Amino acid sequence: MSNPRYWRENPSRYNLIGKKCENCGGIYFPPREICPKCRRKSLGKMKDYRLSGKGKIYSFTVVHDPMPDFALMKPYIMAMVEMDGGVRLTGQVVDCEPEKLKIGLDVEATFRKLGSEGNAGIIRYGYKFRPR
Ligand SMILES: [Zn+2]
Repeated sequence: MSNPRYWRENPSRYNLIGKKCENCGGIYFPPREICPKCRRKSLGKMKDYRLSGKGKIYSFTVVHDPMPDFALMKPYIMAMVEMDGGVRLTGQVVDCEPEKLKIGLDVEATFRKLGSEGNAGIIRYGYKFRPR
């Protein structure tokens, strides 16, 4: 989706609501309508599943040269965070010195306004992560 409004108005993204397969327990975010592991017709019923928002750093990058429209203090940290059921989300890590960051660090999702209305290019992530 190239339209930034999609992200702003997409409640599943802001509330971390994905889908859980009632057959195999697989958790998917962004939500999927069909469990890829249980494609057969009678299996793989999907129901809404709200991620706890808690996870661990799986990998991270310290970005020293932000894109001009990203309006962030630099350097900043982008991390892949492993959450419920192995779901991995990518987002910025805040309230954490780059030196203190490590693989396996416990973090939680936090929701922050990422830009002002009209500055549409800035809205890339509905959530960020911070140490917990
Ligand atoms: Zn399944």
